[in-house]
Amino acid sequence: MEGRKTIVHVDNLKKNFGSLEVLKEISIDIYEGEVVVVLGPSGSGKSTFLRCLNQLETATGGTIIIDDVNITDKHTDINKVRENIGMVFQQFNLFAHKTVAENIMLAPVHLKTMTKEESKVKCLQLLERVGMPEKAEAYPSQLSGGQKQRVAIARSLAMNPDIMLFDEPTSALDPEMVGEVLAVMKELVADGMTMIVVTHEVGFAREVADRIVFMDGGYIVEQGTPEEVFQHPKEPRTIDFLNKVL
Ligand code: ADP
Ligand code: MG
Repeated sequence: MEGRKTIVHVDNLKKNFGSLEVLKEISIDIYEGEVVVVLGPSGSGKSTFLRCLNQLETATGGTIIIDDVNITDKHTDINKVRENIGMVFQQFNLFAHKTVAENIMLAPVHLKTMTKEESKVKCLQLLERVGMPEKAEAYPSQLSGGQKQRVAIARSLAMNPDIMLFDEPTSALDPEMVGEVLAVMKELVADGMTMIVVTHEVGFAREVADRIVFMDGGYIVEQGTPEEVFQHPKEPRTIDFLNKVL
């Protein structure tokens, strides 16, 4: 990864909720095209970290620079930055009263980054990419969990983001649907997307991650290649966690 462009630069990020210090001093650089899988016990700050990256939470301290834009500077137009960052959540957050196509094209049409005609073409391309070209006119209630999550991914891709953030995208799914969502994510990896993925899917992490980041108690405790972190963890807290999940 050395020599590649840094696309996310996080320096000494802190986030408190009242007196609760959730992120203590997170520093990390992520490179263009890199796939980073974030692991860690519940409550370690993984979701808060992702939410700080696209300003769903405001950092208490430190600096976050994404695509050369300092998003922790309060003069930055955060909506512009967010267009470049897709986020997929455990809960799919689709609009129940809108069709799949309307859900996917909502942001581009609203933000007028595309004409209606362009957006229709793009929508179909995205639905093909997630393997559901026949579902454009369906409503979310007519879809399985795996299909809903694939639509949520397509919706995030509609703005042509440079970075995709995934927060436990398969945790709410029945086991038989996990594979279809991971398959779509693997295609994004193959396309060279920069991705930060919080997941407990160790198989996925081993297969596609360039780097594993292990968080605990608001710190990055250990990081390295999947081989380093899974086969040769150094920190007792990493070893303890892996013993529970592997
Ligand atoms: P993880 O995703 O690793 O499970 P989270 O980032 O969701 O961890 O949460 C880390 C800690 O921050 C937890 O103790 C959680 O209760 C707390 N927390 C998260 N969001 C809020 C919030 N909006 N207000 C208060 N506490 C919060
Ligand atoms: Mg979480």
